[in-house]
Amino acid sequence: MISLQKIAKTFQTKDGDVTAVDHVDLTVDEGEIFGIIGYSGAGKSTLIRLLNMLETPSSGDITVAGKNMTTLTKKELRKARQEIGMIFQHFNLLWSRTVEENIAFPLEIKGVSKGEKKKRVQELITLVGLEGRGGSYPAQLSGGQKQRVGIARALATNPKVLLCDEATSALDPKTTDSILDLLVDINKKLSLTIILITHEMHVIRKICHRVAVMENGQIVEEGPVLDVFRSPKEDMTKEFVKQVTEPEETEEAIAHLFKDDGIGHVLQLTFVGSDAKRSLITDVVRRFDISISILQGKISQTRDGSYGSLFVNVTGEKTVIEEAITYIKEQKVDVEVIH
Ligand code: ADP
Repeated sequence: MISLQKIAKTFQTKDGDVTAVDHVDLTVDEGEIFGIIGYSGAGKSTLIRLLNMLETPSSGDITVAGKNMTTLTKKELRKARQEIGMIFQHFNLLWSRTVEENIAFPLEIKGVSKGEKKKRVQELITLVGLEGRGGSYPAQLSGGQKQRVGIARALATNPKVLLCDEATSALDPKTTDSILDLLVDINKKLSLTIILITHEMHVIRKICHRVAVMENGQIVEEGPVLDVFRSPKEDMTKEFVKQVTEPEETEEAIAHLFKDDGIGHVLQLTFVGSDAKRSLITDVVRRFDISISILQGKISQTRDGSYGSLFVNVTGEKTVIEEAITYIKEQKVDVEVIH
């Protein structure tokens, strides 16, 4: 379905050339869910944008659904793009349009008749589970619902391929799971080929068949997800594999550790696109008369904020701890009291 051959992209900037994608070869089969993981700056966004020619490659060939994208005329490219849907981290919805109008937008551009458009929009609303919300505006929806609109809009023209650009990175863990379930559902129902990029290994593990690990514009390791998890070869891959812990098991183990021994509470702090950094802990300890120690977890900082979760042990007076929790929540960090 998709084949990249020696694809490279160099940006000319005032500080010199930046090679974002460095001679990548990649093949994705029809009906596959393929994940690309890498830290910020690895070249993932550029690679995915090359697939629908939002970026023009400096060299190499890109074939999608049998078409060599690099040789198409503008008109042919417009048509070829209807075969490739895309969803984004921040949804990219039209805020002044309703859910129905957002989903109808690509159909209007395609010149679909009014009757057909109405029918198709209703089908899509049912497919993504947004029945009864067709007349709402994006601002009236939750993050998960917004992404459902994004998915419905991306599928409006019946694409063969769906590109997902950090599509769950702005969502909390539960909503992330429900959106990933929806992606698996439409992958099966529509035999849709899905490529997703992410910096979160649990996303890869939950739904991808194969994964490629990107570093400095290159794919450093690639394979079936289970194989990569069982025996990661590159250091970068090992780091990502380590990222994934079993949250339930960890919660239970930690809660058990601190059960009834009177040495404080265990909290799970979840950072999702938050401005707060690890230094938040130091800040909280300075502001409130409590002590906090980090038990386990990891947060990573990207240009879009901090992501990840920490389990911490807190000791201090109950009311002071409560005040501290309120303060932490104000920093857009989700707090769950485990024990
Ligand atoms: P990722 O999605 O993995 O975070 P990107 O593809 O966004 O990585 O970026 C890869 C590299 O290319 C980075 O060094 C980034 O600064 C650079 N880059 C991306 N887009 C542009 C651009 N339009 N102009 C100049 N440099 C860019």
